[in-house]
Amino acid sequence: MENPTNPVTKALHARVDDKNANPAVTPLYQCSAFEADSPFFYTRKDNPNVAELEETVRILEDANFAVASACGMAAISMTLELLKPGETLVVDPYIYGCSYRLFQRISERLGIQLKTADFSSEKDLEQITAETRMIFFETPTNPFLKTVDIKKVSERLKSLNPDGLVVVDNTWATPLFQHPLKHGADVSLHSGTKYFSGHSDVMSGMTLTNREDLAQDFRDTRFYGGAILAPHSAWLTRRSLQTLNLRLEKQQQVTKEMRDFLREQPQVTKVYYPNVDGKQLTGYGGILFFEFSNNLDKYYQKFIQSLKLFNTGTGMACVTSMVAQPFSGSHASMTCEEKEQIGLGENLVRLCFGLENPEDLKNDLTKALRTLES
Ligand code: PLP
Repeated sequence: MENPTNPVTKALHARVDDKNANPAVTPLYQCSAFEADSPFFYTRKDNPNVAELEETVRILEDANFAVASACGMAAISMTLELLKPGETLVVDPYIYGCSYRLFQRISERLGIQLKTADFSSEKDLEQITAETRMIFFETPTNPFLKTVDIKKVSERLKSLNPDGLVVVDNTWATPLFQHPLKHGADVSLHSGTKYFSGHSDVMSGMTLTNREDLAQDFRDTRFYGGAILAPHSAWLTRRSLQTLNLRLEKQQQVTKEMRDFLREQPQVTKVYYPNVDGKQLTGYGGILFFEFSNNLDKYYQKFIQSLKLFNTGTGMACVTSMVAQPFSGSHASMTCEEKEQIGLGENLVRLCFGLENPEDLKNDLTKALRTLES
């Protein structure tokens, strides 16, 4: 066929030959479709920006396989797809409230036996039996930042059921400070919306494993279920990861300083900070909890309104500091009875520290705490 002369047809097919452009960073592949001979096939299956993000996190966590998803909840949902009706799932109740609600919803619908166990407590490990197909927890726990010994719980499950799966939500520890797969977990997953993004501007999820069969399962689930991450989100997240260690080092330093400062405040009874043992958890970033003394929690609204440097809302682990009340925020999807069972009251406050000058943060908190007494 002769070359078209119609300008509309010509304009529609105009392309610049960019094969030798050699950009300094991977450009955004904002496309849903690839040519038929491309290994990427279709963006719901794979995309170069998604693949590069996966490779970056895979390296950081020293895992064999990484599968990105639209957000952290998508990563958790993909993992739950490994369960069949009638199987038993044991979850730690000290986890993000939406994860807890998701487990309940899916268990009810699919006829999965759902049990809870505080895996940081020796006694509760008895809840893991030969019937247990999957266990799920966060360490440090959310809230209270307790430690779950990944090796110990993994060994218990594998000794009773070699096919049992250990799933760790590693969002708060991050790939810089904790590698669950090294301690016996089968799956480590993340809400990349938190530290990976670090700027409260993009959502993502990541599921890591050393097992090829599980990785393939996650990819299939993502392809058929449509949980793929958008190329632009992958590109932004990959860019943010270039500064993950710098942000976390600073957040770690600020958080330690603020922990010591809060412990000195008369309006605060208890400060929660995790046990950084140097073996399982080798460092810790920016989130801590504290409890108000003397029923001061009834002035929580006054407290947050007085703060000038702490943003409110669901964001966390970003470059600016945040304040939240787990009772009404991250754990709002739990019932009052469920929150009472884990000792989560309205007096618990979560602080996430950004990159501000610690002296400014201390002044801001001092003023807000003093207003509670007036
Ligand atoms: N896991 C943890 C520990 C979280 O804190 C969150 C959200 O706050 C999630 C998972 C869910 O992630 P996303 O909001 O990216 O879906």
